[in-house]
Amino acid sequence: MKKTIVIGAGFGGLALAIRLQAAGIPTLLLEQRDKPGGRAYVYQDQGFTFDAGPTVITDPTALLELFSLAGKRMEDYVELLPVKPFYRLCWEDGKTFDYDNDQAGLNRQILAFNPADVQGYQRFLAYSQAVFKEGYLKLGSIPFLSFNDMLKVAPQLGRLQAWRSVYSKVASYIEDEHLRQAFSFHSLLVGGNPFATSSIYTLIHALEREWGVWFPRGGTGALVQALVKLFEELGGELLLNAQVDHIHCESQHINGLTLTDGRYFSVKAVASNADVVHTYRHFLRDNPASVDYAQRLVKKRMSNSLFVLYFGLNHHHDQLAHHTVCFGPRYRELIDEIFNQNGLAEDFSLYLHAPCVTDPSLAPAGCGSYYVLAPVPHLGTADLDWDIEGPRLRDRIFAYLEEHYMPGLRSQLVTERMFTPFDFRDQLNAWQGSAFSLEPILTQSAWFRPHNRDSHVKNLYLVGAGTHPGAGVPGVIGSAKATASLMIEDLYE
Ligand SMILES: Cc1cc2nc3c(=O)[nH]c(=O)nc-3n(C[C@H](O)[C@H](O)[C@H](O)COP(=O)(O)OP(=O)(O)OC[C@H]3O[C@@H](n4cnc5c(N)ncnc54)[C@H](O)[C@@H]3O)c2cc1C
Repeated sequence: MKKTIVIGAGFGGLALAIRLQAAGIPTLLLEQRDKPGGRAYVYQDQGFTFDAGPTVITDPTALLELFSLAGKRMEDYVELLPVKPFYRLCWEDGKTFDYDNDQAGLNRQILAFNPADVQGYQRFLAYSQAVFKEGYLKLGSIPFLSFNDMLKVAPQLGRLQAWRSVYSKVASYIEDEHLRQAFSFHSLLVGGNPFATSSIYTLIHALEREWGVWFPRGGTGALVQALVKLFEELGGELLLNAQVDHIHCESQHINGLTLTDGRYFSVKAVASNADVVHTYRHFLRDNPASVDYAQRLVKKRMSNSLFVLYFGLNHHHDQLAHHTVCFGPRYRELIDEIFNQNGLAEDFSLYLHAPCVTDPSLAPAGCGSYYVLAPVPHLGTADLDWDIEGPRLRDRIFAYLEEHYMPGLRSQLVTERMFTPFDFRDQLNAWQGSAFSLEPILTQSAWFRPHNRDSHVKNLYLVGAGTHPGAGVPGVIGSAKATASLMIEDLYE
């Protein structure tokens, strides 16, 4: 029997599969790895649980919607715990900023940095809220299929000065350099260079202020499991260890697909949650229109990669916040090197995840599970041998954390593993080892991003970070809504 197939069980693939199944379209979800989640994979070792990727869970309403459209209550599947502060931001000069949605606390801290910025921040917040309304609430989950769709929103984009960068817009309201960093780093969470990414991405600030920052009890993996349970209860089928090798296309119509182990599936429609370049370059290698498109895609700018260390300690560092951003000595110059230079900088800025602050069950009693990540260039920007660079960078980062944030770290290590740009490339098929797919600059956003429905192949759709609206958990869940609206319309035609 012909099937509707979603390739890849990342957040985007799962959310799309749930929407299709809830609309009465029998859906098969194929995942190459032994566990679902994609970038939200989970490692378990000696009683420690490590979420591999997303840890800052925002926009719970998008998740609630997935459960409610299936007639279920999210709280029966997973519990979201509030995280306070949202993030602790730390600089090498000893200054810190606890960022959350307590306005009085924010004002007090901003005042201590620079009194003039209290007013400036209010104006920035109002701007960010306006962008959030236009860019996220109105456009975040509708597909952009024609240039006309883009023209329709051009006046709003113009009014919001979307051609300016995140940093330049923040700097137009805020004077203090620490605060400029505090309110501009967010685009890095979705692979965007704050000095090049459209100021539309300041919407992340308003989104966090509006709905808060959350962490699922049991880790992000518990949220993935909840979505899988929902999908399967609806009658959907998830096949793990099912790596798609080839999509068979004739006269711009997909008939079937083959897995690397030779299994063949007859296909009604396919949505790919796999890397967008891999989809066109590898899966559709026999279809000239797709190969042409792949050649254009590889010339686009990819977002940066990440170097991630997961580590379990026999000590719980209760001085830490759940999320800490550790700014290094340089901001603009470091980011420029990560996005544009062939090499690895001597310094770094880090994001440190300490989930046991919110949920101690993620490590044995008295212990702590952690991860630390450093944004690094992707393999097309810097042609580094990560088998050599990885262990070196690991030593530098552990020494730095021990000196500045986690005294005694190296003597407390119980378990550790690293994930490098090579792993993004080899384990996730990510083009150039990018962690977030295409860089979210204005000329690669909305209609300029690969479309939710392919322009040539009639029954091919995309979902996830490489299509509209882009990376991040709320982004890919929004992409699932956009793609589902098209598929449901087409499949019920
Ligand atoms: C370390 C890290 C931290 C992050 N932190 C945050 C955060 O705190 N908050 C946030 O909102 N976002 C965060 N992000 C971004 C966010 O995780 C991603 O943008 C999002 O999860 C991507 O989801 P996706 O659906 O596009 O696909 P992915 O998660 O990439 O899933 C794609 C799936 O396709 C599968 N696949 C690939 N090829 C094949 C094949 N041939 N056959 C079958 N299956 C295949 C892959 O195995 C994978 O499971 C983070 C990302 C990383 C890497």
